[in-house]
Amino acid sequence: PEVLLEVRDLHVEFRTRDGVAHAVNGVDYAVGRGQTLAVLGESGSGKSVTAQAVMGILDIPPGRITRGRILFRGQDLLKLKESERRRIRGAEMAMIFQDALSALNPVLTVGDQLGEMFVVHRGASRKDARARAVELMDRVRIPAAAQRVRDYPHQFSGGMRQRIMIAMALALEPALIIADEPTTALDVTVQAQVMDLLAELQRELTMGLVLITHDLGVVADVADRIAVMYAGRIVETAPVHDVYKAPAHPYTRGLLESIPRLDRKGRELYAIKGLPPSLTDIPRGCAFHPRCPMARDVCRTDVPPLYEVPGDRRSACHFWRECLDG
Ligand code: SF4
Ligand code: MG
Repeated sequence: PEVLLEVRDLHVEFRTRDGVAHAVNGVDYAVGRGQTLAVLGESGSGKSVTAQAVMGILDIPPGRITRGRILFRGQDLLKLKESERRRIRGAEMAMIFQDALSALNPVLTVGDQLGEMFVVHRGASRKDARARAVELMDRVRIPAAAQRVRDYPHQFSGGMRQRIMIAMALALEPALIIADEPTTALDVTVQAQVMDLLAELQRELTMGLVLITHDLGVVADVADRIAVMYAGRIVETAPVHDVYKAPAHPYTRGLLESIPRLDRKGRELYAIKGLPPSLTDIPRGCAFHPRCPMARDVCRTDVPPLYEVPGDRRSACHFWRECLDG
């Protein structure tokens, strides 16, 4: 398939009161047409910051790309003028956020917000824009779209609002969608419905999808590949089913063991002890070593490279073989 997005050796820093935060430290990934890449990690792993760098919306808070390239259909986005990036954003790549209520304008009807995309980008008349808004709401299966197009965001349930966000992202038929925790704020049953809808639309429209989540439990059925991030680096990347069968990195193993399961009530919250490191003070050697049950002396001194693992996989663990063998 056509490669849509390539992130190459991306580095992003933030200046904070405590010093320079190294949010992204050499990330590489690629997504093609019709493919879904799940980017996994705890908060502070750099998964959202990488996405914001791709979208060109790193300005809040002020982040700085210090190295790397972001190619969209072979074109280096970091070399484009802001006006060109603005055109690509929305028309060719769009983003879906976790919190629809704050992403949508509370004083405009959803019809006006959806329609606005066609007025601004496609020069549509108000009447046509309204008709397109209703079509989009049908497409994301909002019941009684023709009536509900006049409602305001707060009049919808959380799940329906997230569908409206998806409709906004789809409006201009972008080739690539980045969804940052699109279902995290929703109830579990609604989560599954919204995720299914997103996956179905992705297939139907053969879009590329980057699905950012902290929950390995939601990606099994929708992703082709998975990239696990820790302290601003990718620590494991693999075809999704291989990761579930046998993780090649102890951090991925920990995430797998953290997936809530009915037979493990009560202890589903965090199987990985400790907290992610401060990005102003990332541990030497393997950044995961203070939390890793397999850590040895070499882990405290030597940064593991992203080793090649058989089966189109990579792992940044000195002991990936042992990890694979369980
Ligand atoms: Fe654990 Fe060492 Fe592997 Fe890092 S390199 S994940 S500390 S075993
Ligand atoms: Mg985030």
